[in-house]
Amino acid sequence: MPNLNTFQSDGGLAVFMFRALQDNYCYLVHDPDTGTTGVVDTPEVAPIVAALEETGWSLDFILNTHHHWDHAGGNLELKRLTGCRVVGPRADRERIPGIDISLGDGDRFEIGSHRAKIFDTPGHTSGHICYLFEDDRVAFTGDTLFSMGCGRLFEGSPQQMWSSLQKFLTWPDDTRVFCAHEYTQSNARFALTAEPGNRALIERAADVDRLRARGLPTIPSTIGLEKATNPFLRPMSTHLQETLGMRNADLVEVFAETRRRKDKF
Ligand SMILES: [Zn+2]
Repeated sequence: MPNLNTFQSDGGLAVFMFRALQDNYCYLVHDPDTGTTGVVDTPEVAPIVAALEETGWSLDFILNTHHHWDHAGGNLELKRLTGCRVVGPRADRERIPGIDISLGDGDRFEIGSHRAKIFDTPGHTSGHICYLFEDDRVAFTGDTLFSMGCGRLFEGSPQQMWSSLQKFLTWPDDTRVFCAHEYTQSNARFALTAEPGNRALIERAADVDRLRARGLPTIPSTIGLEKATNPFLRPMSTHLQETLGMRNADLVEVFAETRRRKDKF
């Protein structure tokens, strides 16, 4: 498994990023001072084991975002192999295999000395959490926030998803966003139909095309970039509203129409 990227935050939290399945990203998060290590979701066991071997880190925690098989499918085997503990959304604890520690809005969870703030972000599934390592400016957003996209509404309403997405608007712009899938290029194509005149979007889409042409990941993004380019965070944009023919419409309705169009795109 090639080492795509290792990031280290200014605060010292290390993130080792690698691929799993078709287009999932998986992340080891590691505190070098204490050696504490977590893996964000478990799409597939073999690449996680390979990543642990490559880094020499030993697994303490699985940090699940939600119950889908391509996020929690490897929980039980990894738990058996490593003796790690499973952390996941309280709102969906019955559907998280092997869960030991359940978390919800406002809770904190620590990887060594690095503290994550937990956000409930239902909409894609009825229980979904995101992990914001606030001091490190590092966040794991699962299938709620993608680069220039958001998760499909499998189990939630547009109102619920828009409430979840609004939480990201409160995060610092320089927060690095590590989402769970490489959907960025197709998301950009859709976003350009929603806001064809958005200059930040046009530039970001060109950057993404260059990265993908070289087979490189487009992740992480940042909250600042997402605020400027992600149509699902921008229902307040008059440009987007005009494209949809919904000038001054309710923001939930604008979000819902954007999501409907993306579903058919
Ligand atoms: Zn999912």
